[in-house]
Amino acid sequence: MARVVVLGGAESGVGAAVLAKVKGYDVFLSDKGQIKEEYAEQLRKWDIPFEQGQHSEELILNADEVVKSPGIPGTVPMVQKIREKGIRVVSEIEFASRFDSAKKICITGSNGKTTTTSLIYYLMQNAGLNVGLGGNIGKSYAYQVATEHFDYYVLEISSFQLDDIYDFRPDIAIITNITPDHLDRYDHNMENYVAAKFNITRNLREEDCFIFDSDDAITIGHLSKIVLRCKMLPFSQEKEVSQGAFLKEDKIVVRYQKEETDIFLQELALGGKHNIYNSMAAALAAKAAGIENDVIRRSLATFQPIEHRLEPVLSIKDVLYINDSKATNIDSAWYALECQKRPVVWIVGGTDKGNDYSVLNGLVKEKVKGIVCLGVDNKKIHAAFQDMVPCMEDALSAEEAVQKATAMATAGDVVLLSPCCASFDLFKNYEDRGEKFKAAVRKL
Ligand code: ADP
Repeated sequence: MARVVVLGGAESGVGAAVLAKVKGYDVFLSDKGQIKEEYAEQLRKWDIPFEQGQHSEELILNADEVVKSPGIPGTVPMVQKIREKGIRVVSEIEFASRFDSAKKICITGSNGKTTTTSLIYYLMQNAGLNVGLGGNIGKSYAYQVATEHFDYYVLEISSFQLDDIYDFRPDIAIITNITPDHLDRYDHNMENYVAAKFNITRNLREEDCFIFDSDDAITIGHLSKIVLRCKMLPFSQEKEVSQGAFLKEDKIVVRYQKEETDIFLQELALGGKHNIYNSMAAALAAKAAGIENDVIRRSLATFQPIEHRLEPVLSIKDVLYINDSKATNIDSAWYALECQKRPVVWIVGGTDKGNDYSVLNGLVKEKVKGIVCLGVDNKKIHAAFQDMVPCMEDALSAEEAVQKATAMATAGDVVLLSPCCASFDLFKNYEDRGEKFKAAVRKL
C-alpha cells in the first residue's frame, strides 16, 4: 500500500489526510506545532495516525509521496530532507484533483479572490448547478472530494497552494490582479511571486479559459513572456476587448463567442471600481460555464457584501462606519479610499509588510481629513502622511481607534477601517480586528 505523509494539521492537511484514507493509502500526518483540537478530533474519527510538536524522520522519510500544507514554506529543513530523498512533494489541491472529475473554476490573484470566488459561487447556485465552494474558503477542496459529489467546484487558491502543483488543471482559471504581497515567501523577488500565481495556467488546454485583468501591467507583462493555448478572456475598464469584458459608458459589456451582453453599473450590488473588475471576472466565468444572461444580471444585482470587505456597519449621527479589515495591503486600501464619496477619517496600521505608502498620497490629500493609526509601531505611517492631514492620532485598540475617529468625524463623513497592514501586532487575525471594530462601533 502506498504511503502518503501529510505535513501540517489544519484545514488543508487534514482534508488531504482524510482523502488519502478514503482512497486506501497508508496515511500519516505530522505537524511541528500544536494541532487544534477540532482537527485532532477529525483525525481520530477517521482513524488517521498523527503526531504534533515534532517531525519524526523515520515516519516521514519512508513516504511515497508527501502532501505539504500551503502554510509551510518549502525552505523548512524537513521539506528539504524530503526532497533530497527524492520523495515528491505536492500541494493539497494537486493531490485532491487526481480523484475529482468535476469542472473547476479556480481563482487566484493578490486582491479580490474571496469576493470573486463568492460571486461566482452565488451565480452558479442561482443557475441551479450542483456546485461546491472551497480552497481557501470554508472546507478544504480535498475534504469535499473525499466526502461530497459535485459537478462543479469554485475554488479560491492562494499562491502558496499553487507552489507544488504538477497536473492540476482548472477548466476556467482567473487571476484577478497581481500587486506586491507576501514577498517574504518568494525571496523578496516579484518575478517568483508572479510566476507562482501563473502556475494556475500551466496545464490549461485549448478548450479551457483564462480570465485576467488586462489593465494590470504585471499580468500583461508576464503574459508577453509565455504562450497559452487556451481561450483568453481579458477584462478591462480602460479599453474595449474583442472577447472578454469592458466598460462602455455606464455599463459592463460582456463579449463571449458571438454574443454580447450588457450589465448596468448601477445595478451591481457591490460598489467601487475594484468590484467592477470582480463583477467582470465573475460574469465572464459564468458565461464560459454556460450560465444565462438573466441569471448573471440578477446575481450581480443581489449579491450581499462579504464581511470585512468594505462592509457598512452602522450610520451614527450621519457618520458611516465601514469595516474593510481584510484590506491588508496597499492596493486594497487604495480601492477602498478611491470609492469613498464623502470625507474620510481613516483607521490604518498594523504589521507593515514593506509598504510603500506614497502610492496613496493623491487619494489621502483629496479625501482624508484625519488618520487614526491602529498599530504597535506607527512610525512609517506618521512619516508618510503627517504633513498631508490636519489630524493624526495613535490607538492601541479598536475601541480607542473608533473613539478617536469619532471625535474627528462630523456629520456626512465616513470612518473607514482599511488598514493596509496585517493585524497580528494587536489582533489574532483580520477577522478579530474587524469584529472588534464593529463591536466598538455598536457601543457608541
Ligand atoms: P482576497 O481574498 O484576494 O484577499 P478579498 O475579496 O477578500 O480578496 O478582498 C480583500 C481586500 O481587497 C478588501 O479590502 C477588498 O475591498 C479589496 N479588494 C477586493 N477586490 C479587489 C480588487 N479587484 N482589487 C483591489 N482590491 C480589491
